Amino acid sequence: MSLTTVLLRPGEADRIVAGHLWIYEGAILRLTGPANDGDLVQIKDHRQRLLGVGFYNSRSKIRVRVIDSERTDIDVHFFEERLRSALAVRQRHMPTATSFRVVNAESDLLTGLILDKYEDVFVMQISSLGMEKRKHHIVEAIKRVFSPRAIVERSESSFRKFEGMEESNGVIHGTIEGPVSIKLNGLKFDVDIAGGHKTGLYLDQQVNYQKVANLVRKGDTVLDCFSFLGGFSLHAARAGAKTVVGVDQSAEATGFAGANAKANKLDAQCTFETANAFDWLKARTHTGPHEKLIPQFDVVVLDPPSFTRTRAAVEGAMRGYKEIHVRGLKLLKPGGVLATFCCSHHVGTQMFLDCILSAAFDQRKLLRRVDIYAQSPDHPVLPSMPETEYLKGFAFELVR
Ligand code: SAH
Repeated sequence: MSLTTVLLRPGEADRIVAGHLWIYEGAILRLTGPANDGDLVQIKDHRQRLLGVGFYNSRSKIRVRVIDSERTDIDVHFFEERLRSALAVRQRHMPTATSFRVVNAESDLLTGLILDKYEDVFVMQISSLGMEKRKHHIVEAIKRVFSPRAIVERSESSFRKFEGMEESNGVIHGTIEGPVSIKLNGLKFDVDIAGGHKTGLYLDQQVNYQKVANLVRKGDTVLDCFSFLGGFSLHAARAGAKTVVGVDQSAEATGFAGANAKANKLDAQCTFETANAFDWLKARTHTGPHEKLIPQFDVVVLDPPSFTRTRAAVEGAMRGYKEIHVRGLKLLKPGGVLATFCCSHHVGTQMFLDCILSAAFDQRKLLRRVDIYAQSPDHPVLPSMPETEYLKGFAFELVR
């Protein structure tokens, strides 16, 4: 196999040796020959020592995406092996789960490939040209490892344009009709895979649903802001909550959440309201000049979408995070629990914590931290590649 070599500038090799998988244009000294976009190239340091192989793309700022630290053939067997080792990670850390993310791109050394398992239906998302060109191998490998009922492609990620690719959607193997019924921690969820939200469901909270539910006491009143399909709501109701209110601005989401509650016989406890959470919280925390707000919730869950996709928009996003925390805390009874999450990569754990503390400070409230959350183990983090970490969360008790 003869591969074109990409030589790195002096000082650029250590990042790659340490396990980062992206090589930007500026790190490259030169190419020793021609390379087509999507080709496999070998990567060497400026002294010609081999660092690995990766996918080349002149149209992307990420010029090379490392795929292995040795010379490797990228064929069906390669993908089959990577899928099996990714699956082993999930089986080890989430042994009872039947729906989960099988491949989380870089975290599983498969840059630009995401694969979600919804029982026997698989949803694939490709965001790098190197993977796109090998889609036939990937699909064949998925068939060999999982014998799926269907494979659906949902490659509509905005990242594709950075790699010079169009969207690509559709059922590429088997058939599906209507929503797919899946189990999370023993609860049933209907997920609209062919339509609906981008990847069907937010699987990254699977472990946290149960952890937050463990803080719910019998008879509690629970608020689930940004409830989507009702993940936190249903788990809280099963844990014994008397009343659960979910709020989401998407009517499609609250519709599914209501149906999910019913399918689990939890609809007597759960209601879902279609509303902008900011407006909803504002309306319920508004007080007249001499009125005192009497908080009604024993548990408040805040799991908003990422308010910022870029570093530049962080400041505005922090105002949003602070506002929901100020209002969420106003609605929380003393001794109650606030479970709060941030899924923006650009807002670090400390920044998020500072924001929550500043909301508490403004109202002279004191919080006791009772749990720390991260993305579920099917979305593994490589500390050598900070881009793989995005979800963080905390649970606090309101001391006073
Ligand atoms: N907690 C959910 C995930 C939430 S994702 C789960 O575990 O599955 C974010 C959700 O927030 C989406 O369902 C989206 O429709 C909703 N959303 C976005 N902006 C909103 C707003 N301003 N008010 C209410 N809901 C909003």
